Amino acid sequence: MERRTRDEAGRAACAAGSLTPARQRVLAVLQAQPQRVLGAYDILEILAATGSRPAPMSVYRALEHLMGVGLVHRIASLNGFVACHAGDRGAGHAAQFLICRACRTVIELDGPGVAHALEEACGAARFVPEGAAVVEVTGVCRGCRETQGDGDGGASCRH
Ligand SMILES: [Zn+2]
Ligand SMILES: [Zn+2]
Repeated sequence: MERRTRDEAGRAACAAGSLTPARQRVLAVLQAQPQRVLGAYDILEILAATGSRPAPMSVYRALEHLMGVGLVHRIASLNGFVACHAGDRGAGHAAQFLICRACRTVIELDGPGVAHALEEACGAARFVPEGAAVVEVTGVCRGCRETQGDGDGGASCRH
């Protein structure tokens, strides 16, 4: 009897399991800070602090591979990387990110509705997107808003 592993989660786990040690280390750094955008050099520094310092090129190569298999996303607006929060969605899935420019926190939304709306809009405009649509929304997260404000919303405005 043929046993099919159609399960996407199984596939993602498989992808993670077959990683080389160097790729696993890079992935582990990103997964240890699940909502943080890290630049390639941040990753390099963390790796150097916990073991041997890898060559920058090996970090870039690892990131490229991890993005290819859908375990890591590139956040273009912050020029950094974040581990995928939806490891069962497969490589190249549509993703939406809420990005805090103050603390570099990233929240990956699981919103098929947004992806669907974009598909329809592209169709209406007869526009063919390259790969899955990725949306980056920059702003200020709840935590930063609470720290920045003095608890008395709008008190700093002296109109
Ligand atoms: Zn993802
Ligand atoms: Zn923030």
